[in-house]
Amino acid sequence: MQLFSIFGNPVSHSRSPLMHNSVFKNLNYPACYTRTHLEDGTKLKETFFALGLSGANVTVPHKEAAFNACDEVRGFAKTVGVVNTLINENGKLIGYNTDADGFMYAIEEFDNIKKILILGAGGTAKALAARFKQEKIEVSVINRSEGRLSFFDDLDCQTYTWDTFKLSSYDLVVNTTSAGLKDEELPAPKELLFSILKNTNYIADVIYGKLTPFLQLAHDKNITYKDGADMLLGQGVLANELFVKSTLKKEDIKKKMAHSFLL
Ligand code: NDP
Repeated sequence: MQLFSIFGNPVSHSRSPLMHNSVFKNLNYPACYTRTHLEDGTKLKETFFALGLSGANVTVPHKEAAFNACDEVRGFAKTVGVVNTLINENGKLIGYNTDADGFMYAIEEFDNIKKILILGAGGTAKALAARFKQEKIEVSVINRSEGRLSFFDDLDCQTYTWDTFKLSSYDLVVNTTSAGLKDEELPAPKELLFSILKNTNYIADVIYGKLTPFLQLAHDKNITYKDGADMLLGQGVLANELFVKSTLKKEDIKKKMAHSFLL
C-alpha cells in the first residue's frame, strides 16, 4: 500500500485527500492519501521521508519551499521555481508543477483571453503568469507588497502594488491571493476592485469550495465568474497520473476524481 499526502498550512480545508482516494479506491489502486499540517516549510523533505510517502501535493504557503527541497525538478516547475507535486523516485525527491495546466483547463470555456490581470504574486501567481506568457497572453500583476514582483518584471509583465496601480481593460482577472481562504478579506482595497471589475469580461478565483468576498463582488456586478474547483480538478488529474506512474487511464482518473466533487 503506497501512502500519499498533501502538505499545507492551513490544510484542513483541502479536498485533495477525497479526490485522490476516490481514484485509488474506485480504480483499485493500492494507495491511500492523507493530509499533513506543516508549519515550517524547511521541514518538508524530512517530514516527507519520515512519513514514508510515495508522493505528495503541496499547498499554501510551501510551494516555493517545495521547489527548494527537491533533488530534481522537472518540466514547467523548473521555469517558475514553484512545485505542487512531489514524487519519491528511489529515495530522491522529484518536483513537478501541475497547477498552471490545471488552470488552463479551467478557463477553456472563456473565449478570447488575450489580456489577464493577476491579483497576488505568490507561488500560484508565478506559475500562472509564466504559463500565460507561453500562450502569448499579456499579463499584469498587482500585489499588496512589492517584494515578490521582480519575478514578474523579469517575465515582462506589467507589475504594480496597490499604490502604483494603473487601470487598463482585461479579458480576465484572477485572484491568486489567499485573501478569502480562511477569512472574509478582499484581495485588494474595495474601491480598487470596483474599478477593476468594471473593466473585465471574466473573473476567476483559485480558492475553491466557497464564494469568496471577491467572487461575491463579481456576482453582485453580474460578471461571469468561476471558483477554483475546475483548476483543482485539472491539477489533481495531472498529479494523480504522476502518482500512479501513468498505469491508470487519464479519462478514468478524471471521471473518478470529478465524482468526488459531488460527495
Ligand atoms: P502564497 O503564500 O505563495 O502567496 C499568497 C499571495 O497572497 C501573496 O501574493 C500575498 O501577498 C497575497 N496575500 C495573502 N493574504 C492577502 C490579503 N489578506 N490581502 C491581499 N493579498 C494577500 O500562496 P499560493 O500562491 O501558494 O496560494 C494562493 C491561493 O491559491 C491559496 O488560497 C491556495 O489555496 C490557492 N490555490 C488553489 C489551487 C486550486 O487548485 N484551485 C491551486 C493552487 C493554489 P504578499 O506577497 O504581500 O504577502
